[in-house]
Amino acid sequence: MVIIIEKDTKEKVIESIIKKLDQEGFDIHRSTGIDHTILGVIGNTNKLDIRDIKLMEGVGEAYRITAPYKLVSREFKSQNTTFKVRDVEIGGDETVIMAGPCSIESKEQIMTIAESVAKAGAKILRGGAFKPRSSPYSFQGLGEKGLEYMREAADKYNLAMITEVMDKDQIELVESYTDIIQVGARNMQNFSFIRALGKSSKPVFLKRGIAATIEEWLMSAEYILSGGNKNVIFCERGIRTFETYTRNTMDISAIPIIQKLSHLPIFADPSHGTGLRNKVIPMARAAVAAGANGLMIEVHNDPDKALSDGAQSLYLEQFADLMKQIRIIADVIGRKVA
Ligand code: PEP
Ligand code: MN
Repeated sequence: MVIIIEKDTKEKVIESIIKKLDQEGFDIHRSTGIDHTILGVIGNTNKLDIRDIKLMEGVGEAYRITAPYKLVSREFKSQNTTFKVRDVEIGGDETVIMAGPCSIESKEQIMTIAESVAKAGAKILRGGAFKPRSSPYSFQGLGEKGLEYMREAADKYNLAMITEVMDKDQIELVESYTDIIQVGARNMQNFSFIRALGKSSKPVFLKRGIAATIEEWLMSAEYILSGGNKNVIFCERGIRTFETYTRNTMDISAIPIIQKLSHLPIFADPSHGTGLRNKVIPMARAAVAAGANGLMIEVHNDPDKALSDGAQSLYLEQFADLMKQIRIIADVIGRKVA
């Protein structure tokens, strides 16, 4: 941390700041210029609340120079994290596509969609059995029956599977079916829940909170890694802004930012990112061009009758067409799509 002392501060005041930090176990490097005195605070400054420092007499400004997260950072681990989910490599040269319905609605529905997305090149089947709906009166998902149908569909078409877990009590049940655990946007900062996922043996797909900064998102991943689970995938799914035209504002820039700050893979979900079917394909193309490690796309065999998120779900043929387009885009940046 760097502290800039206010101009004309009395020596006695500067010394009391140094003394206080010294007593807390920090090493202080002082440099005295003509107008300004600057203090470099060395040690684990994560435990300091920067607001307390800024409120001290004589302090003009204070800045952190190291990130509050460690295990997720590129500084801690320079090589990209890669891991396998069944036979699918995440974080490598392939842009991995997850596709499927918002919710599992019936066995026939998930079978039809799984067959079609697998044929088009998706490697992972998505679908919700426990749904975080804004209204308690909306369809809440099929629960365990949905998980059963989904596992059967994934196995039949040689796909890995990802589904959402909504709270701590469901972890064990969902883990017994799924290959990847999805943490929904609304749960990104449910700390007791994400801490529990640090003990899971399954990779965690961490959706960005609706109003989360990139640093808050990285800190949530830090919770999971610090619990011992090293396999976390970030997912940009749009954030709440003043713009109302789209359901959320898709932050494509989060992709290269996360890739610079962290060694963990990042996917993009343009379905929730835009909320509008006709905006999903352009934003999916943009995310692949930006270098995303993968995409999550909502696809439905009959979107007009879907029980959730039909308006943002692609028709089966549209998804197949998107796959053809992103193969070309991935090639341009030296990546590949199956
Ligand atoms: C979903 O993937 O269906 C979902 C509910 O996502 P999010 O948590 O990003 O809203
Ligand atoms: Mn959805």
